[in-house]
Amino acid sequence: MIDLVFKAPELQRLKQALLDDKSRESAAILLATPAARADGFRLLVKEIHLPAEGDYDCRTPTRVRLSPDFAIPLERRAKDRGWSLIYCHSHPMQDRPEFSSIDDDAERQLGPYMDYRSPGVPHASLLVGNTGFDARIMTSGEPIRVVEVGAELHFACNTGEAVLLEDQHNRQILAFGEEGQRRLHSLRVAIVGFGGTGSAIVYQLSRLGIDQYILVDWDVVDRTNLNRIYGATEGDINRPKIEVAERVIREARASPSIVPIRADVTKRGVGRRLVDADLIFCCTDSHASRDQLNRIAYKYMIPVIDMGVVIQKNEGVPLFYGAQATMLAPGLPCLWCMDRLDAKRIRHELMTPEQRQADPYFSNANAVKQPAVISLTSTAASLAVTMALSAVTGIPHRGRYVYYNGADSRMNPTQSSSKPNCPFCGAEAVGNGDYGDPLHEIDHESE
Ligand SMILES: [Zn+2]
Ligand SMILES: [Zn+2]
Repeated sequence: MIDLVFKAPELQRLKQALLDDKSRESAAILLATPAARADGFRLLVKEIHLPAEGDYDCRTPTRVRLSPDFAIPLERRAKDRGWSLIYCHSHPMQDRPEFSSIDDDAERQLGPYMDYRSPGVPHASLLVGNTGFDARIMTSGEPIRVVEVGAELHFACNTGEAVLLEDQHNRQILAFGEEGQRRLHSLRVAIVGFGGTGSAIVYQLSRLGIDQYILVDWDVVDRTNLNRIYGATEGDINRPKIEVAERVIREARASPSIVPIRADVTKRGVGRRLVDADLIFCCTDSHASRDQLNRIAYKYMIPVIDMGVVIQKNEGVPLFYGAQATMLAPGLPCLWCMDRLDAKRIRHELMTPEQRQADPYFSNANAVKQPAVISLTSTAASLAVTMALSAVTGIPHRGRYVYYNGADSRMNPTQSSSKPNCPFCGAEAVGNGDYGDPLHEIDHESE
């Protein structure tokens, strides 16, 4: 599948600009960073170039052409950077637009020309109508799914095959509707970490009817996990956690697609494979893996929902405990902006065991076992899944950072904002794909 991905609200803004004149077609040229994935590309819109009146060679109710003076410098810019070029135009007379024979003729010339000028990356055509979009690869005509990513996740067109609704989902369809159920079913999710929170996520997503999974966990089940991993039993001790995850999914779904990756998400090549997902659940405690997913959320514009539990037991004071879920996506602050990552700890986590031994500043404090209670890991997971339901189906859920304070029995949405020019979530970093600051790629075993 090929996705054309906009950060919110740029798709809506582009649509408004192109439909400003209802009497004639309008055009624009977009530049996008192409990120290859297992079954296609994720084209990340980096720049939107809107022409002025004088930049058109021809502009009628059924035909539009931009002048070479406008188009050629942008074609050159795309070629120099290895970016994809997306020619975009409006059909102001159509609600759900369809490519015309004029479009077919134009692309028969433009497509091979672009492939010749700027080979190796796909070039596309985006069509804007009053209520819908259509998009395709210029030479092959392969349909492109158009996605807008922010606090919500909108799929604007070519969302895949028709989805048959199943009776077992009737009661949730009453809550978020048939369209909501279809959107959920088409979603490709990645779950990183299969502990207390990750196993609850997998359990819930499979019961909600999601069929496409990427599962990432390097660890095996030990006896002390059995108090909170959904689906894990005595017989799973010393078995990989992702085997349990697969079983939990197959209990609920007849023919799911599951990609199990038994490795740490910071290992070479592993983080990059998550670019196949539409939405990622971050269910790990390590700062290095959370930093990895934080990068992916903005570089590749894939929303990540981070979650966690805190339980602090100190002499002489009552137990402090809580749970949180936080969505990371373009337009929302990243974990660095919220001061939730520790650079020193990341550095230590990414070291080889020998480097750690030799490091005079290394303390073993992180290796101390933390308290863990299933009701709290499940609260964090439920907050995260409900947030995902809101992002995908549109059910109201204002908070994208929600904190549950156990002792006070209070649940609060918390406001936070991005720091200016943040190198991770700032405008410069969003949508860079394989360019810019790289992902973590360690070659040694992480533990
Ligand atoms: Zn057209
Ligand atoms: Zn940031």
